[in-house]
Amino acid sequence: MNKKGFFSKNKSIRKAMQIVEQSPNTYLLSCLFVSSGIRKIFYNYTFRKKELLNKLSSNDPLPRNLYIEGTNICNSNCVFCAYDKLKRPKTIMPMELFIDIINQYVSIGGKAIGLTPIVGDPCMDRHLLERIHYVDSIKQIRNIGFYTNSIALDKDKVDGIFEVKDTIINLSVSFGGYDSDTFKTIMGVDKFDTVRENINYLLDKIENQPNKNVVVKIDFRCPNEIANDTFFHRLNKFIDDKKIKHETLGGRVDSFGGLIDKETIEAAGLSYRFPSPKLGPCDIVFRKPLVLADGRINACAERDLEASLIIGDTKEQSLKEIFTGQKKKDFIQSFYEHKYPNVCKKCSVYQSIYDLRSKVWKNNLSWAKD
Ligand code: SF4
Ligand code: SF4
Repeated sequence: MNKKGFFSKNKSIRKAMQIVEQSPNTYLLSCLFVSSGIRKIFYNYTFRKKELLNKLSSNDPLPRNLYIEGTNICNSNCVFCAYDKLKRPKTIMPMELFIDIINQYVSIGGKAIGLTPIVGDPCMDRHLLERIHYVDSIKQIRNIGFYTNSIALDKDKVDGIFEVKDTIINLSVSFGGYDSDTFKTIMGVDKFDTVRENINYLLDKIENQPNKNVVVKIDFRCPNEIANDTFFHRLNKFIDDKKIKHETLGGRVDSFGGLIDKETIEAAGLSYRFPSPKLGPCDIVFRKPLVLADGRINACAERDLEASLIIGDTKEQSLKEIFTGQKKKDFIQSFYEHKYPNVCKKCSVYQSIYDLRSKVWKNNLSWAKD
């Protein structure tokens, strides 16, 4: 692993970016100067402000995908994650609430759900298989996606997931190491052998009892490196044969809404992802709102660790009312007035709705036309 990190050769550029990052106007000007992508976003933000917002809002009350926090409990302590700072109660969503949410979502046209919470591993949710099979029994919902570190992705869970009949399961493994040492550095726990065993079983399953509805992706969190052992040879063979997908962040991670500092990230051999300048609403509110395990709705399923972006509570209002409600509109408006919440100020996952490359402009998942 490259211990010095991705940007180590560009120390002076990195330093300069860190300085200008402190001043939003200077930061915007620097980004406009160096990036044609930011210039396009700025153009859309300036000249197509209402048109593009109205276009996205015409999908209301339906988000592109609804995320559901089955649990916020995790069995890992990744260096790029703020899980160890979580103050909210650690809990699991009751099955009755899950069923109610799904039924309401179906009634507004929902076709896709995500089970990846802000923090927490879906495989730590004792109802995971029950939830998957309930959703699988509903024709309208075609897609379930979630990430797992795979520490608790044991044989029973793999077997249960592979029993799905109609729904596509996008199962992504967040994989942070090439051996016990790198795994412990990145994922914070000594579980490389468990993960290797679980992934080997998953590969066996794909080989011997494939289910075309289960789409597996390995998402490498480490900087790219060739690992020369039989396990990685097997993994690479599956990738080459297109039996599984893969993705890599090349070791680049964000600061989790400002909760993880650059020094910690770089000490682990990873590199810091600089935020885009804030130009209009974050796309997450349209494509990735989250139902918390207690039934409240958070506008963001990404980096809002303590769930401060609450736009409603399903104990008091319906999903439809919440997704057309004033709190959501106020949150969107706060970006135009540059009064967005603190967690958004420091967030480098932010993506503007005026960036036409954003997933929010893909008419798929719940926005797919039949
Ligand atoms: S990134 Fe995911 S797996 Fe890692 S500690 Fe956070 S919640 Fe757990
Ligand atoms: S800016 Fe970050 S914290 Fe705020 S809504 Fe977007 S992804 Fe969430």
